Amino acid sequence: MKIINDLNLKKQAHDLGVKIWQTPGFMFIMLGVIAVVIMTATFFISQNYDSPELVVLAESSVVIIVLAVGNSVISLVEQMLKLNRMKSEFVSIASHQLRTPLSAIRWETELLLSKYRKSVSAKQQKSIKNIDMLSSRMTHLVNDLLDVARIDQDKLIIKKKSMDISLPINEIVAENKQLAKSKHIEIIFDAKKKMPLVFADPEKIRMVIENLFNNAIKYTIDYGKIEIKLSENGNMLICAVKDSGIGIPAEQHKRIFEKFFRSDNVARYQTEGTGLGLYIAKNIIEQMGGKIWFESMENSGSIFSFSIPIFK
Ligand code: ADP
Repeated sequence: MKIINDLNLKKQAHDLGVKIWQTPGFMFIMLGVIAVVIMTATFFISQNYDSPELVVLAESSVVIIVLAVGNSVISLVEQMLKLNRMKSEFVSIASHQLRTPLSAIRWETELLLSKYRKSVSAKQQKSIKNIDMLSSRMTHLVNDLLDVARIDQDKLIIKKKSMDISLPINEIVAENKQLAKSKHIEIIFDAKKKMPLVFADPEKIRMVIENLFNNAIKYTIDYGKIEIKLSENGNMLICAVKDSGIGIPAEQHKRIFEKFFRSDNVARYQTEGTGLGLYIAKNIIEQMGGKIWFESMENSGSIFSFSIPIFK
């Protein structure tokens, strides 16, 4: 029964949250194939020798060794995959549970700042605003962790429809106007330029643009410039966010879309950040049929771009 269960690759892949070719069962079958190939090779080589006992002994030893090694590798892989799945499930449950009290805290602080504003002193108001800002940051982090868990479990839901990508860009630019002004950063975006509609998930696309734009502001020193450009390339629309910020050291370019990765220069300059935004953005864009990439030079600036299918 266990053998039949072990060979049910689809069920195994589902239970462990991995692709079929990554399941222990698949690896076991591959080891069997390798054993057969080695045995056949041994047979042909041994034709040059007279003793059949020697051939049988050699073949049996090879098979036993391959199976023993294979079995221990497979149990180890199985254990690791189970642990990995448990970790993703834990992150997902913990993030879900944290969201409710966090929303309640934000709701209560908003109430204090609106309805009970008159009975709260200026000093107390400042503290409440601080609590509100910190709980908003924590909500953001919890949401990011939830998205990472969804991505790792292949459970990210994308609901695509036709949309005008300049709408979320305009909103994000307006929301961040004050912050950019306080850092004397000029924002350039031609909102009037008519672009074709894209086929994407509006909420997720907003998350990606928000991440690229927030990074551009976060990693640009005062008196810089951020430019958002939309262009067409065949059946894809390209969105590029260019900044004149601190850039990324060349030797760390290949790691930039990794989970939790933050470049050395950034860690020194900006303590706030998780290294999750670009990992999530890459997964979202690729699941919508697009690509994400960047060009960057340390101390000169970066251009983060993504492509997304045009709506036909
Ligand atoms: P976070 O910004 O929270 O650290 P992200 O996943 O958004 O996480 O970015 C990962 C890393 O990529 C950043 O920590 C930084 O090192 C680098 N990075 C992203 N965008 C920029 C940018 N516009 N300029 C310089 N570095 C950037």
